[in-house]
Amino acid sequence: MKQTMPIDGKFELLTLPYAPDALEPVISANTLGFHHGKHLLTYVNNLNAALPGSGLEGKSLEDIVLQATGGVLNNAGQILNHNLYFTQFMAPKADNAPSGRLAEAINAEFGSFEDFKEIFAKAGATLFGSGWAWLSADAEGNLVITQEPNASNPIRNGLRPLMTMDVWEHAYYLDYQNRRPDHLAALWQIINWDVVAARYEE
Ligand code: MN
Repeated sequence: MKQTMPIDGKFELLTLPYAPDALEPVISANTLGFHHGKHLLTYVNNLNAALPGSGLEGKSLEDIVLQATGGVLNNAGQILNHNLYFTQFMAPKADNAPSGRLAEAINAEFGSFEDFKEIFAKAGATLFGSGWAWLSADAEGNLVITQEPNASNPIRNGLRPLMTMDVWEHAYYLDYQNRRPDHLAALWQIINWDVVAARYEE
């Protein structure tokens, strides 16, 4: 499902683990179609075109993100970011919340799940321009929320990415127009906390 190594020198477009309309009404099939089928596909095609001669052929996506610069970094970063983003969702669920050790870690770090959501949403809403809000774990397993501009990923700062919200306009504009905070607030219904917990326990 999540490709980390190139096959015959090429990265492939992620296969979504749900139907195109599975995230409605939080993310419409229309938005998902453009976001996954057009935007992400373009990053994949651009990276595959840029890899030959870059010195990064045959490396994992993560290693490319850690070592590349310029256009190769931007396209590889966007692939890694979107692969983590698209695989963390599920059909909308009321009262959706984490459980187990991840929930305990969130409470320990941020006070409560409600406090965490407020801090995270603020990070997403106040990120100027295009980028990503992330929940990550540091080397000791502590949770951190960061804002990453453009195509950056927390692994470049030694963090392990767990959950993310894409605040590029292409992620929400067809459904929410300029209302980025409304889009971020709705995303809580479709976060698959089992996936996020599995990343935390890795
Ligand atoms: Mn995006």
